[in-house]
Amino acid sequence: MSSVVLDKVTKVYPGDYLAVDRLSLSAEDGEFLVLLGPSGCGKSTLLRMIAGLEEITEGDLWLDGQLANHLAPRERDVAMVFQNGALYPHRTVRGNIAFPLEIAKSDPSMVRERVTELSKALHIDETLDRRPGTLSGGQRQRVAMGRAIVRQPKLFLMDEPLSNLDAGMRTELRMEISALVRSLGVTTIYVTHDQVEALTLADRIAILNRGVLQDVGTPAQIYNDPATAFVAAFLNSQQLNLLAATVRTPQNQYVMLDFGPHRLTLPWSDPRAYAISQHTGGQVLVGLRPDSLTPVPESFEGPSFYGRVRTLEYHGHEWLAYLECGVPAVPVPEPPDPRLNRTNGEHAGEGKLTALMRRLFSSQEEPQDQEQVGQNTGSGIHRRSDLIVRLGNRPVWRAGDAAKVGVDLARLMIFTLDGARIDPPRR
Ligand code: ADP
Repeated sequence: MSSVVLDKVTKVYPGDYLAVDRLSLSAEDGEFLVLLGPSGCGKSTLLRMIAGLEEITEGDLWLDGQLANHLAPRERDVAMVFQNGALYPHRTVRGNIAFPLEIAKSDPSMVRERVTELSKALHIDETLDRRPGTLSGGQRQRVAMGRAIVRQPKLFLMDEPLSNLDAGMRTELRMEISALVRSLGVTTIYVTHDQVEALTLADRIAILNRGVLQDVGTPAQIYNDPATAFVAAFLNSQQLNLLAATVRTPQNQYVMLDFGPHRLTLPWSDPRAYAISQHTGGQVLVGLRPDSLTPVPESFEGPSFYGRVRTLEYHGHEWLAYLECGVPAVPVPEPPDPRLNRTNGEHAGEGKLTALMRRLFSSQEEPQDQEQVGQNTGSGIHRRSDLIVRLGNRPVWRAGDAAKVGVDLARLMIFTLDGARIDPPRR
């Protein structure tokens, strides 16, 4: 068992490529920490620096309270499982799992016992005498896991171990990894770009983008109380509704979010009201998950949006409705890219989205093309002016219907134009 502390760790690859930027993060003894983020955000680089396979350019790595920057990989007592579970093709399953113990010259009867025990836990005891070439992808990953666990490392590092498997096998192995790692109590750092894996496996999730740590917290903290619009959008199985609103405080009676054709009001007693009111006269971004909107009757007088149903989508376990309601939706703001030390003609220090919003609101026009609003916004873009509503398993509307949706005000997430939470979460 081991604790891991990363203190302002930076990785610059040859060619001056900044892959990880001053990242500070820790994993407690016995914790299952998931590194989540889009492809290329620096997750594997971080994991490889912890393993000692990649040099740390700046900053410190502490393993169990010991400065580990310059320790050789074998001195770190870590085991790593990769995406493709590379195995020795000419060794049997038994030979593969036993290998780390054999080179450590362990007692053969102990090796036999340990391999048998582990192969049972991993449900591969029937394959012990087979070669890797005759195994399924799922079985190969189990063997790779067995080989990593067998010598009971202090720290377990996994780099997308399930991403080459089909959906059914992923779910099965995911549950088994969770059970096995927890029963061993080994500190685990697990890299994935799959939010479901992150939510289901993690004690805590650290979200990265462009080499920068965006947020870290328990799955529930990150999902319900994300630090930025990027995090909210990334950790969302449906696309996030992200709407631009002007803040008003008419006669100081309440705080109003003015979406043009629609308005939502928050009483001063709302814990977010004061922070939002600091932006009176300015614009903010309002994030709404599709499941915080509910179809309501025409007569409903609570906080709501209205519009026309453009289309409905069947997702098996639920329906989604896309409502046209005349609100300009905006792309998810990405934090500034530390790799691009330039402003692209925008005001110095101003993000791309802030510049866009400034132009948008100053001209009162929507941007002309998706290219202009959508650059580098990853998975967060959704069609302009559509409000996505989760309907559950009954499609209460048909395309073309007039529709009204109630808004769960407690679940509004309010961000600055650069995507930071106006009421930053406490962790
Ligand atoms: P992730 O695991 O999140 O997909 P990586 O850590 O593999 O991301 O890569 C982060 C960034 O660093 C990527 O843009 C990748 O192209 C770059 N990168 C990774 N390895 C090297 C390398 N050996 N040399 C140069 N750039 C690299």
